[in-house]
Amino acid sequence: MRSFARATICALYKYSGLMALQERIAYWSGRRFMSVVLFHRVTDAIPEDDLTVSTEWFKSFCELMRDRFNVVPMTQLYRMLNKGQTPPMRTVAITFDDCYRDYVAAARTLAHYKLPATFFMPTGYVGTDHVFPWDAGLKRMPNLPWSDIREMQSLGHEIGSHTVTHADLGVIPAAKARRELADSKKTLEDRLQRPVRWFAYPFGGKENFRPEYLPLAQEVGYEACFSAVSGFVQPQMRGILPRDAMPYFRSLLHLELHLSGCLDWWYNAKRRVGLL
Ligand SMILES: [Zn+2]
Repeated sequence: MRSFARATICALYKYSGLMALQERIAYWSGRRFMSVVLFHRVTDAIPEDDLTVSTEWFKSFCELMRDRFNVVPMTQLYRMLNKGQTPPMRTVAITFDDCYRDYVAAARTLAHYKLPATFFMPTGYVGTDHVFPWDAGLKRMPNLPWSDIREMQSLGHEIGSHTVTHADLGVIPAAKARRELADSKKTLEDRLQRPVRWFAYPFGGKENFRPEYLPLAQEVGYEACFSAVSGFVQPQMRGILPRDAMPYFRSLLHLELHLSGCLDWWYNAKRRVGLL
């Protein structure tokens, strides 16, 4: 009943034109809401959960992105940030972490909708039968072979690094962190014959990356680093960029409201009274 009421309010808000008006006012007043969204599993092999969306949901997400958002390759998002350019309304970049074999199908779906994405790979597990500890007990989900990653690249997607061994950079020493950063980059560049510019650190929380490793990542040659801490990417942001893990909301209407920045006032209100 509550979710029905919420869906009705969201629909009224959108279809009355209030949402578009609010967005325009925010844009005119200089507020920007760029997002980097993060997927983990796009599969029908296991039930949907906080890390998993079905192929049907993903298709609907792609339609929403094509019809209502400005999806850009990471290169373009980075260029806008670097040059201080004003991003168009509803600018979004799409990313994936880990090396599930289902990603090749997701990459083809994205290409069908002409949506570019970046896939962050833990290079040590590509082409292996490694099972991630958090997947123990779930139906077996194979890992991508290099041939699929090459196909994903040829479809127009970018490949970034997610370390070699999916290491927690919040706990490992600097020498090991350097190897994780440098070796994964080198492996990807050797295998794919393209420069690797982006890095997403595993586990993604604030505690999973030591601040002193950011200069290390830059020294190794990465131009941008990504967490999985949610939030909007602001034009003046440097350092580690936030990402919103999908499905942030299972309702696409609710997700649209969120990514367009229209719920920001609500989050701020909740923050003020200590609910966020
Ligand atoms: Zn990961």
